Amino acid sequence: MPELPEVETYRRLLDELLVPQTLVAFEVLDAHVLATPEDELRHALVGTTVTGTRRLGKNCFLELSTGQVLALHFGMTGDVGAYRHDHDRPRFTRVAFHLSNGLRVAFIDPRKFGRIRLAASQEEFSKAKKLGPDALAITAAQLQQALSKRKQAIKPLLLDQAITAGLGNWIVDEVLFQARIHPERPANSLSIEHFNALYNAVQLVLTTAIEHEAVYRYFPASFLIHAREWDISSTPETTNHLNCPIHSDTIIDKTYVGGRATYTCPVCQPPYNH
Ligand SMILES: [Zn+2]
Repeated sequence: MPELPEVETYRRLLDELLVPQTLVAFEVLDAHVLATPEDELRHALVGTTVTGTRRLGKNCFLELSTGQVLALHFGMTGDVGAYRHDHDRPRFTRVAFHLSNGLRVAFIDPRKFGRIRLAASQEEFSKAKKLGPDALAITAAQLQQALSKRKQAIKPLLLDQAITAGLGNWIVDEVLFQARIHPERPANSLSIEHFNALYNAVQLVLTTAIEHEAVYRYFPASFLIHAREWDISSTPETTNHLNCPIHSDTIIDKTYVGGRATYTCPVCQPPYNH
């Protein structure tokens, strides 16, 4: 699933391809991914110039010369691509933006859970979707303010997009591992030092992932992600990575917190005792 680091990588590509280009046609190959009626989108897009790009959490925005924004959400399998001729069109292209320079930019999505929506502004979209501040922009003080009075476990709160937008399941596990905090620890038991550690871990995990363009096998060996099941199943030779990257003789625990698969090191992240 495209998480914040993938979406930031797509945004950078879209910025290079689309800014400041004029859209000359809006081609829809599968209307499933449209959250705004096709005619309305075509009317709003054709003839306008893309003046900028922004990202909030897992949403990417194309800013239009009319002042409106086009919000792109990549669902489970969304991606972007560029081509010039129909015969080079990437497989599973659902929508193509035709540019005045002859290039076409594809919104690719095999499973069609992605969505394209027109909004008056990014602020209006964020409000309607109840999105909190972006995870890369939120400060330690904001984290503390949002969380320090909550009795719930820290992990589901960090996944709540209204608290901070863009933290998905593996990212939260990695953040809590790097911050040495147990995922079921009540948020109101965390100290200022914990919130500083959380903030630093969010920055470390997201900037590392963006730097490596979300190619997880290139992440530092000190990251928990190498011990995740899906990683092992895709690279059988790395089964020894089931162990903690810090404590090589400790096996990583797999449990479920709030119904989500959760990986922890029992030594790095001891359970919280009330
Ligand atoms: Zn450990």
